[in-house]
Amino acid sequence: MKRVFSGIQPSGELHIGNYLGAVQNWVKLQTQYECLFCVVDLHAITQPYDPATLSSLTMDMAVSLYAAGLDPEQCIVFVQSHVAEHTELNWLLTAVAPLGELERQTQFKDKAQRQESVPMGLLAYPVLQAADVLLYKASLVPVGEDQVQHLELMREIARRWNARFADAYFPEPQALLTKTRRVLGLDGKAKMSKSLGNTIGLFESPEAIWEKLRPAATDPARVTRKDPGTPEICNIFTLHQGFSPPETVEEVADKCRTAGWGCIDCKRKLADNMIATLAPMRERAAALKRDPAGVLERLRAGAGRARDLAQRTIAEVREKMGFLHG
Ligand code: SF4
Repeated sequence: MKRVFSGIQPSGELHIGNYLGAVQNWVKLQTQYECLFCVVDLHAITQPYDPATLSSLTMDMAVSLYAAGLDPEQCIVFVQSHVAEHTELNWLLTAVAPLGELERQTQFKDKAQRQESVPMGLLAYPVLQAADVLLYKASLVPVGEDQVQHLELMREIARRWNARFADAYFPEPQALLTKTRRVLGLDGKAKMSKSLGNTIGLFESPEAIWEKLRPAATDPARVTRKDPGTPEICNIFTLHQGFSPPETVEEVADKCRTAGWGCIDCKRKLADNMIATLAPMRERAAALKRDPAGVLERLRAGAGRARDLAQRTIAEVREKMGFLHG
């Protein structure tokens, strides 16, 4: 069975944007592939962050992943820093990682511009990503559009390492292009993001969900109820595609184009479907939060399974790179 690796930042509880953009898809993938899903806390420290909150944000993300449906019986969920082999392979890959290409990465240039003093970790971010995936010889990586350049670099690092040390040892990871949705914030302008305050949390109450959805941005062409709209440019329609059954999505598109209903009717329908989908997740999250020791235990078990795989790779890589046995 092909192996899939994907990571998510320890940004606290999931919101519907990162649920629809990644995790909803992961829940499906765990039944089709051998999957490893990782909370990438080592990546998080390449940006300014608060050491006082890193562990609680990591824990909240882990709770979110389990509550959203990742099942430790079906996939491996773990925290990146709990498997030290990630940092070891990261260093070993710096022997072949091309500096010029790292410097040309769009994300590096964007983020570096915003920092007075640029930490090396920001430049090496894609090398650690390559280590994450190659450590498990994963052949598939679910990626968003903004990660395609990093995946290409990961493939380049694998090629260079193979050419230098052991032909065809690391598989060149392929993008797993699956249907995920890019959800805008409730303001309809920017990507949904906690720092912009335009999100709905995965575990919010039905009342809070409706309070946030009611004033959310729609197609601005629908000034009055009689004005027809274009569902494809409305974020509420995108959310229907994530939370409503196909027949409702069709109904929404039709009634929007023909001005068959008002935006508030459309949002009420969305709220009902969203609340119904999220209710079991909210219950699971509440149970998990009552048992933090149990969550940690699950994460430790996940890290143990990941480490077993990682240690095998590291032993082989060390040998092929010519290190003296310790
Ligand atoms: S009817 Fe629905 S899809 Fe159309 S603009 Fe209003 S909220 Fe958006």
